[in-house]
Amino acid sequence: MSEETIFEKILKGDIPCEEVYSDEICLAFKDILPQAPIHILIIPRKHIKGLHEISIVDKSMLGHLLLTSTKIAEMLNLKDWRIIINNGEKAGQTVFHLHVHLIAGRELKWPPG
Ligand code: AMP
Repeated sequence: MSEETIFEKILKGDIPCEEVYSDEICLAFKDILPQAPIHILIIPRKHIKGLHEISIVDKSMLGHLLLTSTKIAEMLNLKDWRIIINNGEKAGQTVFHLHVHLIAGRELKWPPG
């Protein structure tokens, strides 16, 4: 069995987080090392390592993560924001539990690094 990730520990309440939003499908909290004035992570309660593991059964959960990101952007009165999902080490993924980054509060360059 693979080792429990930090996000599973957060979901279980074993380590704290700065919660922004929670429901039966996902949890959103502030990133501990923010890359912008607003940097929130939205994670599913279901353990799934990343986008490479998703299947059709995850369709509604994946839609829910995106709808939740917009709900949070509206809660924070954001006009401009970016959603990022890193998949795989070379794409910058460091925590192997699927998560959506919501980043805002500064000008965001394109293309990303
Ligand atoms: P990624 O690099 O896409 O896998 O994103 C993982 C993110 O999790 C990084 O932005 C980290 O700063 C963030 N992170 C790691 N540990 C914690 C934690 N305990 N609480 C909040 N965010 C965390």
